[in-house]
Amino acid sequence: MRGAREGLGGAEDRSQSRDLGHTVSHIGVNIILTVREMADNRTPESRSALMSRIGSKDTAPEIAVRKLIFSMGYRFRLHRSELPGTPDIVFIGRRKIIFVHGCFWHAHGCKIGRAPKSHVDFWLVKLKRNSDRDRENERALRRQGWDVLTLWQCETRDVALLRRKAMDFLES
Ligand SMILES: [Zn+2]
Repeated sequence: MRGAREGLGGAEDRSQSRDLGHTVSHIGVNIILTVREMADNRTPESRSALMSRIGSKDTAPEIAVRKLIFSMGYRFRLHRSELPGTPDIVFIGRRKIIFVHGCFWHAHGCKIGRAPKSHVDFWLVKLKRNSDRDRENERALRRQGWDVLTLWQCETRDVALLRRKAMDFLES
């Protein structure tokens, strides 16, 4: 059976630039996202850089949080891949988890979390997908009985705030 895709000579080859004019509904706004735009933005190098940064471990904000919490006397495990979302900091006995999220990659609404001004459509979709995944992971963890706290990169500059948040969470 001949389908429309056949005429494009292998539309599944997404590495090639083809304007298929997909409509993507995103945060209440309909935008047109073309495969051409996606392809233009994703060389193999940029794609792999992207993926490695999303799931990245040992980022500066994460290390800052770990050092602080350790100095407060708490002990924890790191990057438990058997748990949804491979949580950064896991307090097994307390059944508590702390994620430290980069504001850009996890779409925090703060100043450093804003999407770039160019290729806006591409980034909106990409970052929305990340934050959706974060929410799913958090829900899955809560269903398993874990208490979850997310700390944002922008919060790690304020050590007093960070200490208070961590203490409130871990002692609750
Ligand atoms: Zn932020």
